[in-house]
Amino acid sequence: MAHQEIPIDQLLMIKEITPVNILKLHSDPKKVKSLTNNHHQIKITKLTKSNVSGYIKTDFGVFFAKFDIDVGIRCSCGFENGISNSYSGDQFSFEFCDHITALLLHLIGIPDQNFQKYVQDMVPKSVKNQYVLNYLFEKGLILKRDNDTIKCSQFGKLIIRLYLYPVSGVLIRYKLENAAIETYQDVVKEAYEVLKAEVKVRDYKLLQPILEWCDEEPIDDILERNKIIAGDLYTTKDNLERIITFIGIIAVHLSESLLNYLY
Ligand SMILES: [Zn+2]
Repeated sequence: MAHQEIPIDQLLMIKEITPVNILKLHSDPKKVKSLTNNHHQIKITKLTKSNVSGYIKTDFGVFFAKFDIDVGIRCSCGFENGISNSYSGDQFSFEFCDHITALLLHLIGIPDQNFQKYVQDMVPKSVKNQYVLNYLFEKGLILKRDNDTIKCSQFGKLIIRLYLYPVSGVLIRYKLENAAIETYQDVVKEAYEVLKAEVKVRDYKLLQPILEWCDEEPIDDILERNKIIAGDLYTTKDNLERIITFIGIIAVHLSESLLNYLY
């Protein structure tokens, strides 16, 4: 079961990935082989539109595992299915524990057509949500409490209050922490990159005109020289103002949390 056997459109999540390919992607092939040969006793205890769960009886005890659209992939063994930093230090690995692997193997193997319809729908959705959770954890927008529930971080709350895409918020934070921003042109350029990431602009055609507008050049000259229409320039300008305001707010938040950390 090599990764290459998974069609690229499924791997990139352009097309819904099938449960069989999810198994290939997130389970150790050796484990899958040994679990296929040594069947664990498995009992499905719940099957709804948003959750499929069951008990897996092994030589080391009975475990409760579930695929859940709301909370992701969970197992009572305590292994964090999906959270990368707990597994062998490899940042990008996302591997299932034996019990989730066994449960998924069992689910795929049930011949009933109607049951398979549930599995085909449920499993990819919970994996996809687990990806989203991974991203939010990794970027510090959400945090885990001691009792295993999830809470929003201060940064996460800020992003929500600003009605900003999480990806844009993370990109702005990255730019503030890593990019050399010294002049107002730098700010405009970095904000333009955020717009590009949000697909609000397609290319860099409007960057130069915007910089000229910032320099208070006559608007008619800018439009004529760059062969653009006023509407495009104003829309981009408004979008940039929004992003630059957010850059300011996030910068204040970052410096405040740094101060809290230091004192
Ligand atoms: Zn487990």
